[in-house]
Amino acid sequence: MLPDPETFRRVMGHFVTGVTVVTTYRDDGSGRPYGITVNALTSVSLEPPLVMVAIGHGRRIEPHLRTTGRFAVNILAAGQQRLADCFAGAEVEPDREAFCGADWTPGSTGLPLLAGAIAHLECTTVEIISVGDHDLHIGRVDHLATNPGHDPPLLYYRRRYVRVEQATETRPEGRP
Ligand SMILES: Cc1cc2nc3c(=O)[nH]c(=O)nc-3n(C[C@H](O)[C@H](O)[C@H](O)COP(=O)(O)OP(=O)(O)OC[C@H]3O[C@@H](n4cnc5c(N)ncnc54)[C@H](O)[C@@H]3O)c2cc1C
Repeated sequence: MLPDPETFRRVMGHFVTGVTVVTTYRDDGSGRPYGITVNALTSVSLEPPLVMVAIGHGRRIEPHLRTTGRFAVNILAAGQQRLADCFAGAEVEPDREAFCGADWTPGSTGLPLLAGAIAHLECTTVEIISVGDHDLHIGRVDHLATNPGHDPPLLYYRRRYVRVEQATETRPEGRP
């Protein structure tokens, strides 16, 4: 007998991930951005550089992703939990229909990039593979960058946000 979805989620929750917001433009020609919180991101290939994001069937972003054929991955910093919640549909104002009130700019390829993210990937979709109840969006990375001097990442573990505590050490001045 297969594990039930709840057990599967609980066990897989032990695999620590970062948290991203996948962004694209709406399919109505308005030029307005849209986003969804995603932790199912993995690199797939180095040459060519490919990444995969897994998007559940029926997500509202789906038609926008398919029409635009491009998406950006914004890797969130520890201080961006509010955006992670908002882009996951939390009942907050401004909500995700208002792009969570997030500051953003068009990237090198024009995709919407969130200010304060620790890294960005701008991708062209090369394949969408429907598997089980998710679509795997394979993106060729056209442009990527890290934010110099960025904060530590926001992490996700056992369905909780986790932050990295950076230990510091200082050499003693006196004789030990
Ligand atoms: C840390 C974290 C990581 C996550 N990682 C992932 C991930 O890797 N992949 C993933 O897919 N999700 C992930 N999620 C969940 C995802 O972010 C949220 O479930 C998502 O934002 C909910 O968006 P949704 O409304 O599109 O989808 P759902 O909550 O699934 O709602 C879809 C429902 O809305 C209805 N609907 C569809 N379009 C419209 C519309 N235009 N207007 C009104 N109703 C409509 C549909 O009929 C359906 O019933 C993650 C969430 C968190 C917090």
